[in-house]
Order: sequence, then C-alpha cells, then structure tokens
Amino acid sequence: MKVAIAGCGVVGATIAYELSQVPGLNITVLDQLPPPKFPDVAVTQFVSPSSTGAALGVLMGVISHKAKGKAWKLRQASLQRYETLLPELTSIIGRSIPCNRQGILSLCFPSENLDKWESLVEIRRHQGWNLEIWDSHQLQTRCPQISNNTSITGAIYSPQDRQINPTALTIALVEAAKHKGVEFKFGVEVLGVVSPSPEISQSCNAIETSAGRIAVDYLIIAAGLGSSPLTAQLNQFVDIRPVLGQALQLRLTNPLGNPEFQPVITGNDVNIVPLGNGDYWVGATVEFPPESSKEIPSQPELLQTVLEQAIAFCPALATATTIHSWSGLRPRPQSRPAPIIDRLPGFTNVLLATGHYRNGVLLAPATAIAIREMIISNQ
Ligand SMILES: Cc1cc2nc3c(=O)[nH]c(=O)nc-3n(C[C@H](O)[C@H](O)[C@H](O)COP(=O)(O)OP(=O)(O)OC[C@H]3O[C@@H](n4cnc5c(N)ncnc54)[C@H](O)[C@@H]3O)c2cc1C
Repeated sequence: MKVAIAGCGVVGATIAYELSQVPGLNITVLDQLPPPKFPDVAVTQFVSPSSTGAALGVLMGVISHKAKGKAWKLRQASLQRYETLLPELTSIIGRSIPCNRQGILSLCFPSENLDKWESLVEIRRHQGWNLEIWDSHQLQTRCPQISNNTSITGAIYSPQDRQINPTALTIALVEAAKHKGVEFKFGVEVLGVVSPSPEISQSCNAIETSAGRIAVDYLIIAAGLGSSPLTAQLNQFVDIRPVLGQALQLRLTNPLGNPEFQPVITGNDVNIVPLGNGDYWVGATVEFPPESSKEIPSQPELLQTVLEQAIAFCPALATATTIHSWSGLRPRPQSRPAPIIDRLPGFTNVLLATGHYRNGVLLAPATAIAIREMIISNQ
C-alpha cells in the first residue's frame, strides 16, 4: 500500500518512522524544504521556515494541567513512547539525541493556586507519575540560581518530564526511517490532491507535486500551516493560523546553579532551557496575528520582555551573551482544539495530523501511534 506524507516537520517525520515498522507499506515523505538541519552557528538572527526548527522541545506532559480525556491520553502516550523511541533511534543511527532528563521546574508566585497543584499531584500519583511541591527553602537549596526575592514562593518539580532538541530529533527520525526503507523527497512541494471523480468518489488516488504526479493509496497531511491550502482543494477547508514565537540562545561562562542539576525552568510562560556548557535557550513569545490580517509583524520588544523575565528568575543571566535569536510560526487550529488527528471529513484515505500549536514536539509520538492505528484498522 502506497502512503504519502505531506510535510517533514517533527510530526511528519515521527509518523514516517512509526509507519516504517508496519509491514506492507511503501512510504514516501515530501517536503518543500531541504532536509532539516541545525542553524548555522554564525547566523545571529533567523526566521525558521518550519515550526519544528523554532521549537524549544519542552515536553510539558506530567506538569500540564490536562488531567483527563483525549488531551491527557495523548500526553501520556507520547511520554511513554519517548522512553522507547529515543533508545530505538539511538541504536539505529548510532548516536544519541540531546535530551534533558532532569525534569521541569515550574516556579510559583504569590497568587499561585496551590490547592490546584495539590489536587494535580494526587491525580498524577494515581496515574503513576510524580510531581513534587517545593517551598522556597527547597527551591533555593536545589536551584540556587533562582532569585530569592519574595515574588517566587516555591516551585512544582516534575522529574519525569523531558526536553528534547527538536531538530536533532527530526534529523534522527528521517535517518532511521530511511534505514527502514522510507523514501524522502525534499525540495518537493505537494501542489494538489487528485480525486478520481470528486463528485462521487470520496478518496484520493494521487497527488500532484512539483516533481510530478505520485499515485497513493493513503495521504497523510502533516504539513503544519501548509495543511490548510491542501484541505481547501478537497473542499474541506481546515483553518489553521499562525501564532508567532521568538526565542534566543544565551551563553554563560559557567552553568547556572548546580551544574549537576539543570532542569528546564519555567514561569509565566517563559522557559529557560539548559543546553549544556553554560548555553541556554530562552523563550518564547506568543504573538497572535491582528484581526485584520494573517501577517504577524515582528515585535523585538516582546522578546526583550521574555529575556527580562528570565533574568528576573535567574539574575545571573544578565551577564550572558546572546548567541542568536529566531522566530517561527506555530500552527494553531481556528475554533477547535489542537491538535487535529483525524480523517478528513468525507474522505476514506486522507488523514490529518496537524495543528499541533504549542505542543507538536510533545505530541508527535502519540500522533504517529494514532495515525498508525487508523491505517492498520483499515488494512
Ligand atoms: C518558538 C516556538 C517554540 C516552541 N516550543 C515548543 C516546545 O517547547 N514544545 C513543543 O512540543 N512544541 C513547541 N513548539 C510548537 C512546535 O514547534 C509545533 O507544534 C511543531 O513543530 C509542529 O510540527 P509540524 O511537523 O506539524 O509542523 P512543521 O514543523 O511546520 O512542519 C510542516 C512541514 O510541512 C512542510 N510543508 C507545508 N506545506 C507543504 C506542501 N504543500 N508540500 C510539501 N511540504 C509542505 C513545511 O515545509 C514543513 O517542513 C514551539 C513552536 C515555536 C514557534
């Protein structure tokens, strides 16, 4: 069975790898961009053409407030799959993928609703996950880099949450999927979807691409913001809009606090992500397009506010050098929850794996499992 995947961000690449283990599938992944790569170290400012290339890779699973239903099931499935996926990829490609296993530390402020956290700690305990509530003394002892002023009252520590380098992960997934027989066509745009007779037939049997027509039995649309135009062609427009994020990489001569304990620190929607050797990612802004337009004007002052917030949390960051800053667009579904993992309405063989908004890296493994199940159940 011929399966085409439109889009090779973290979502398309994870689906490709997951499907490569299903016997009898002939998989082709198409992306209009060149193969994923790390940013050029000499570039001080860039705009990422994909959402994945801009992401911080923070996996807010156990520490998220999603406690039940689909939102939690997807998070849990992803956290569990990551524990097997990373060693699997490492053994195929022969190198490890940068992953921070020291957890996520969410700072608490005077207005914090601790009752809510206590009830989440209980829920997670029943679900088999740990969360710890730290007072300010515990916080200062474990993380002396955190400002000891009274505006930070403690923290929630989630030891089982992770952070993964999204570009390294995507490169690894492509390499491992290739190893298992998946074909990748980079620099090839999916232009359209061919339906034998759109009035009567609700299936797609080929796609038009910038490199010619390709016959397919299944099409998986994992094209992030590029998904909307493809669905529009099938008269089933799925509205996904951009939300801009800016972030930066800082460099210190020494790591913050205890070099042996470097969790991701988060507060007021600002993440401080340790990369090792005194480098940190700080971000990201959340910038919506104005009502009147789909374009989002760049606002450097918002990135400056994020940096100031990070310095308020960890004053030593004030001495850091900025290595580079960047921006990217998150694919956010309009008027429906993220992500969209479903059949395209009315079509038997077009699947949507898109609109992951702020959690595409977190939810890619669960998305890939769901897509695999949809395909297997139809075989
Ligand atoms: C600043 C920032 C920080 C973030 N931090 C996090 C985080 O900490 N944790 C987290 O989980 N998520 C985070 N995200 C969100 C995450 O990046 C996205 O949810 C995720 O990358 C979406 O992946 P994707 O594969 O669906 O989309 P993309 O990465 O955008 O990939 C879609 C691909 O489809 C291709 N494409 C589009 N149209 C076509 C076409 N017609 N033909 C061929 N190819 C096409 C594009 O070229 C692109 O490569 C962040 C995002 C930003 C911007």
